[in-house]
Amino acid sequence: MESGRCGGTGELEEISRHPCYNEEAHRYFARMHLPVAPACNIQCRYCNRKFDCVNESRPGVVSEVLTPEQAAQKAVGVAAQLMQLSVVGIAGPGDPLANADRTFETFRKVRSRVPDVSLCLSTNGLTLMEHLDDIEELGIRHVTITINAIDPDIGSDIYSWVYDSGIRYEGREAAELLISRQLAGLKALCERGVLCKVNSVLIPGVNDTHLPAVSRTVKSLGAAIHNVTPLIVAPGSPYEQEGRRAPRPKELHALQEICGGEGMKIMRHCRQCRADAIGLLGQDRSADFTWEKIE
Ligand code: SF4
Ligand code: SF4
Repeated sequence: MESGRCGGTGELEEISRHPCYNEEAHRYFARMHLPVAPACNIQCRYCNRKFDCVNESRPGVVSEVLTPEQAAQKAVGVAAQLMQLSVVGIAGPGDPLANADRTFETFRKVRSRVPDVSLCLSTNGLTLMEHLDDIEELGIRHVTITINAIDPDIGSDIYSWVYDSGIRYEGREAAELLISRQLAGLKALCERGVLCKVNSVLIPGVNDTHLPAVSRTVKSLGAAIHNVTPLIVAPGSPYEQEGRRAPRPKELHALQEICGGEGMKIMRHCRQCRADAIGLLGQDRSADFTWEKIE
């Protein structure tokens, strides 16, 4: 496979150069995440907001939050030094769409200064329907939505609360609102031709037997790929206090086989990257490109 940055417009080419959508591409093409989005509008019970969003990254050292201008300058600097860079994404450290102004300002700046990279967005999906036009107008071709349940009764064991339009929802009502928005947003994006990946966190004893139904549903709505990732319990999170555990590798692989056996394309090479990850998957070079070094 040739190296160089993403410049094609066809769907197959876009998939083939995105290291998360295509396992083969992750050996050749690099991605960078720009950590410009600190706030979140929901509370997942496995998350502690002192750490990066667990839906698209592992808890660890909190990413340095950049302003949109700093982030754009960082993208320019990294693109000049990392010729394998094909994707610039925003994945946190909170929810990018709970920080929509910062997120879209960053994408606009990156689009104009580094036009030959693909833009990628990860979100919990709560406010996706409000931003369909922004996503389309900016040419964001890859969106990841984390959908852990399609049944509000199961979702109420995963989400403590959801904050929307000035109202805080809890319990089943919160899960119902979030799930309805996620599924509507996924369907609408797929209808607009955006390539959607669905992430689901495998939570033993909560959604393990439910995830095949999630996989079938998101496939029917047009998702291109399903990424089932193992639960990471953040220190200090409600799940830590409840004593919840991560799935064993064989539990994860068995579930991936079941979901894949129903015809869905399954991602098996996710590295649960940080919200400021840079480089090939599994080779995080964010320490080489800190803001101070780029400046
Ligand atoms: Fe944490 Fe991400 Fe869930 Fe928000 S969406 S609570 S940042 S894991
Ligand atoms: Fe790709 Fe997984 Fe890293 Fe997201 S967290 S950039 S899906 S490898």
